[in-house]
Amino acid sequence: MTPARKHARSAPRPRAPVPLSARAILTVDLAALRANWARLNQTSGRAECAGVIKADAYGLGLAPIARALTNEGCKTFFVATVDEGRAAREVQPGATIYVLDGLLPGAEAHYAGFDLRPVLSGLAEVRDWAAYGRARGHRLPAAIHIDTGINRLGMPDYEVELLAAEPGLLDAIDVTLVMSHLACADEPKNPMNAVQRDRFETLRAKLPPAPASLANSGGMFLGPAYHFDLVRPGIALYGGRAHEGAPNPMQTVVRLAARILQVREVPPGATIGYGATYKVARHSRIATIGCGYADGFLRALSVATGEAGPVGYVDDYPVPIVGRVSMDFITVDVTDVPAELIHRGTWVEVMGERVTVDDLTDRAGTIGYELLSRLSSRVYRVYEE
Ligand SMILES: *Cc1c(COP(=O)(O)O)cnc(C)c1O
Repeated sequence: MTPARKHARSAPRPRAPVPLSARAILTVDLAALRANWARLNQTSGRAECAGVIKADAYGLGLAPIARALTNEGCKTFFVATVDEGRAAREVQPGATIYVLDGLLPGAEAHYAGFDLRPVLSGLAEVRDWAAYGRARGHRLPAAIHIDTGINRLGMPDYEVELLAAEPGLLDAIDVTLVMSHLACADEPKNPMNAVQRDRFETLRAKLPPAPASLANSGGMFLGPAYHFDLVRPGIALYGGRAHEGAPNPMQTVVRLAARILQVREVPPGATIGYGATYKVARHSRIATIGCGYADGFLRALSVATGEAGPVGYVDDYPVPIVGRVSMDFITVDVTDVPAELIHRGTWVEVMGERVTVDDLTDRAGTIGYELLSRLSSRVYRVYEE
């Protein structure tokens, strides 16, 4: 992949001041985030471009991410939970905020009190929200979620029919969005995408007209036929890949770097780390850095003898990960790096433009969403403007 911003290549160490006590830092490039939103906003044409900031903005920090997106022009946000919605409301008093969970029974006041719009996923939720609005004397805004094949959340077609047959019910709600969610948007060739789009057209036509939304990041890149009135990108905002096996046009938003805590010389045949799974073939210098799976660096990225594993970087020098990733540490082979660069405190970048979130998760057998959303609060965070 071509790096979007070349200057970061030789600058794995943080550009902003960090406390001397910080052993690992996560740098979130808010300018790259804003550029990604602007690009998606352009891609979406006339459709409004929202921002999905659930799960603490995919692990990157809800408040700073929401502020940066707002400054770029984003007006509508999606969160998963009421608590996330409340956190988003605190930083964005004027934004439209949808809660993807739907409506929890009896919790209406928790939504209305913070001007949160539930994404109503079933007839029972619609009835509850309508009744709550009636009791308060005005129609409350909400989205209607139609299931078009993912069979997770959303109204199945028979519920859409029932809803359509009971117009008084929707009269009691201010339906600001009708939406559905694609199951296979990351696979552009999957015929399921067109099937879901067609079902969405058919089902939403049974309901009173309202703005419509179908596309997540992957859905956006399927083309304008999937954009409708509002698009809901998440992962692409954060620099992740939206389509499997395709080039990723988004800028890198996150970099993870950790400091060398100790360097040691080991003779040929020595083994490194838990399980003694990695044996060095030559006289080597091994550096232990302050980041492990408790920081969110996946244990599945461990490297045994003979395996090609991920590399980190000291300046422009690649340093292969060797041995198991443990709770607090990663070990890297720094034998081929000029000795003057390697000392206690040297920064090693383990994730960024050169080794992307997707590179790492492809190897670990998971997806960028999981790695990002599980980055730990133990890692010191720096937000670059
Ligand atoms: C998480 C989510 C999104 C965003 O998906 P990405 O693949 O991250 O772009 C959009 N819509 C719904 C309903 C979601 O749950």
